[in-house]
Amino acid sequence: MSELGVSFEFFPPKTEAMQKKLWGAVEKLSPLEPGFISVTYGAGGSTRSRTHETVSRLVKETGLKVAAHLTCVAATKDEVDEVLRDYWAAGVRHIVALRGDPPGGPGDPYTPHPGGYANAAELAEGARKIADFEISVGCYPEKHPDSPSNAADIDMLKRKVDAGATRGLTQFFFDNDAYLRYLDRVRDAGIDIPIAPGIMPVTNFASVRRMADVCGATLPGRLVKLFANLDGDPETRRLIAATVAAEQCLDLAERGVKDFHFYTLNRDDLVFALCHMLGLRPKPLAADMLEASEEKKAASS
Ligand code: FAD
Repeated sequence: MSELGVSFEFFPPKTEAMQKKLWGAVEKLSPLEPGFISVTYGAGGSTRSRTHETVSRLVKETGLKVAAHLTCVAATKDEVDEVLRDYWAAGVRHIVALRGDPPGGPGDPYTPHPGGYANAAELAEGARKIADFEISVGCYPEKHPDSPSNAADIDMLKRKVDAGATRGLTQFFFDNDAYLRYLDRVRDAGIDIPIAPGIMPVTNFASVRRMADVCGATLPGRLVKLFANLDGDPETRRLIAATVAAEQCLDLAERGVKDFHFYTLNRDDLVFALCHMLGLRPKPLAADMLEASEEKKAASS
């Protein structure tokens, strides 16, 4: 399993305590040598400066390739272009280009901002005009809820690829067959970019159920039964979450999947264990990173 490729998604922390958690997770997961890590952009651009700060610091302080998520919501093209230029100046070379959700949340009708980019394909094209960014985009094994059909959904992906996207990262899902059927449809349409499954280890079942509802991910009955009556028992939930995610990843790996994108939720333990089960082992830190890490530890003690 030496060709395994992983990427880790984080969100920008709000508080000092969350900051610590993020950096602890980055430190633990970095030696697994992810192909890249990424930082999300809050709904409606609400984390614009926090995402920028987090991404810039990660670029400066880790040897990792860092991708910045960016959406089209509530911003003109000029405003988005400015964000893109700032990223390029900060050394960011990879953008996860997204349309984003409407201000009322997923499920509400989406109206593009007047003068803004209408969707991820337009944003990808705009980003490529600003600089030679690598572009990843969102993919939907169970189709995006706004897509009238699977075919329309694949057409949208094709538009994103034609606009310069070279990698897809999927919405989380729990039905591996649905992901593999989706890959067949994508390949049949002549789209050949790598599409990594987005793996969401379920630690809080109630919130995953809410998210699955709005983003159209099927929750298999087996999963619902496994987490039933455990709302007040986080310990057992975590053990089950680890087992469920391990089964999902190992099944995908057995069926030939080699790239995995993990929604870490800024936690390292489950994701590290999943990578271990997939055969990934930490590499010793390079001397310069080790030195930086020691300096950081000394400064914070
Ligand atoms: P698009 O692919 O642009 O469009 C989604 C769908 O809308 C299309 O499939 C199509 O059905 C319809 N559509 C769009 N334009 C048109 C058109 N012109 N004509 C007809 N139909 C159209 N959200 C955040 O806010 N911040 C994040 O950091 C973030 N990270 C994400 C990371 C990943 C890996 C994924 C999968 C999603 C992420 N999202 C994030 C959520 C994402 O913003 C939502 O799923 C959003 O609803 C769709 O974004 P998109 O880029 O896939 O949209």
